Amino acid sequence: MIYKRSSALFTDAKKVIPGGVNSPVRAFKAVGGDPVFVKRAAGAYLYDEDDNQLIDYINSWGPLILGHAHKPVVDAVVEKARMGTSFGTPTEIETRIAELAVKMVPNIDKIRMVNSGTEACMSAVRLARGFTGKDKIIKFAGCYHGHSDSFLIQAGSGAVTFGSPNSPGVTQGTAKDTLLANFNDLENVKELVEANKEEIACIILEPVAGNMGCIPPAEGFLKGLRKLCDETGILLVFDEVMTGFRLAAGGVQQRENVVADIVCFGKVIGGGLPVGAFAARNEIMDHLAPIGPVYQAGTLSGNPLAMAAGLAMLTELDSNPEIFKSIDKKTAYLHEGMEKVLKQNEIDFTINRYGSMISVHFGLDAVTDFASAAKSANLGTFNKFFHGMLENGIYIAPSAYETWFISDALSYEDLDRTIEVVDKVAKTL
Ligand SMILES: *Cc1c(COP(=O)(O)O)cnc(C)c1O
Repeated sequence: MIYKRSSALFTDAKKVIPGGVNSPVRAFKAVGGDPVFVKRAAGAYLYDEDDNQLIDYINSWGPLILGHAHKPVVDAVVEKARMGTSFGTPTEIETRIAELAVKMVPNIDKIRMVNSGTEACMSAVRLARGFTGKDKIIKFAGCYHGHSDSFLIQAGSGAVTFGSPNSPGVTQGTAKDTLLANFNDLENVKELVEANKEEIACIILEPVAGNMGCIPPAEGFLKGLRKLCDETGILLVFDEVMTGFRLAAGGVQQRENVVADIVCFGKVIGGGLPVGAFAARNEIMDHLAPIGPVYQAGTLSGNPLAMAAGLAMLTELDSNPEIFKSIDKKTAYLHEGMEKVLKQNEIDFTINRYGSMISVHFGLDAVTDFASAAKSANLGTFNKFFHGMLENGIYIAPSAYETWFISDALSYEDLDRTIEVVDKVAKTL
């Protein structure tokens, strides 16, 4: 494959954009080489500036569960755009998407739209603090909740890929209110709660972790957190930015049958446009301005184009619930296929999967938390694997800490092709 034009564009970009990218994970810093500049995309494929066709396993980092340029979504956006792109007033479509989201997701009465997953998580924590009157939060090593200050403590994927789990610029004052626990370690959480009694507003987590590879919750972990929160008056916040409307219509809450007090959304809910949201029961949501004292706002929040894309996406998922089964089946097929060829090539590996999220880790140790994910990532095998895949037209995330996102646009031929390439690349590892 030739990446001449991509490389030239990257050179231009680096002169005027820090690192040439507007979000760090897009740069190939961890794996080496220049990033691919994409010109257009359709269905399961990206077409880059050098006219290479790539089978896409990133799907804009999760939102494009139905593939690129999905017609109902694109049509909805185009039609809205012709009517004006932003009014700064309430619009009907905001209510319609909120109604649908509230119908699809368990245990929520109201939802507030924002512009990114970062904003959703940041606002959810402010609301949890305002509601409980407490300051501290518990987060888990390797979980990512966007880039707001409170969360940049052992923050998974992007942040750890660049070896800066704790960012300069986050003050000591902010950091001291974020307590860090080990994912899948309920005892550890109980100890933290015990040691900081009466001070903790919320426990926030990705209920299926996706920013240190894909790490499913251990048996009893989520239910244990729920029980602990019920006993202590701490709010349980599920960051379903990645998992919401992907693992089921009602996300992990539905699949694992555990409810959270506040749920954060992003990615799929925007259908590929910049949308985030957070939601809870009335009792909690009514603490928000303008009816309650907790302030939160946004000039472009609930933007008509973004809402049109989101509503078209959620409508598709709500009226075709078999999509969730279909992507899970495709992901299981890929899982089995890759497992088979990696074994045949005597590679040491672990594949983690939950629904349509999957990650390949090199090394034989089970990957169940941040420490085990980091151990695997440090073996260096992933970088070779990544470049081998890319060279053969398969686009996976340029970091050992990222999940692959399966879209329903992927055909079984695409999956077979991918498994063939994994076989080919495995011979070079
Ligand atoms: C992507 C992601 C975020 C941040 O969302 P942005 O839209 O990038 O700000 C937060 N939490 C999780 C779990 C995510 O995967």
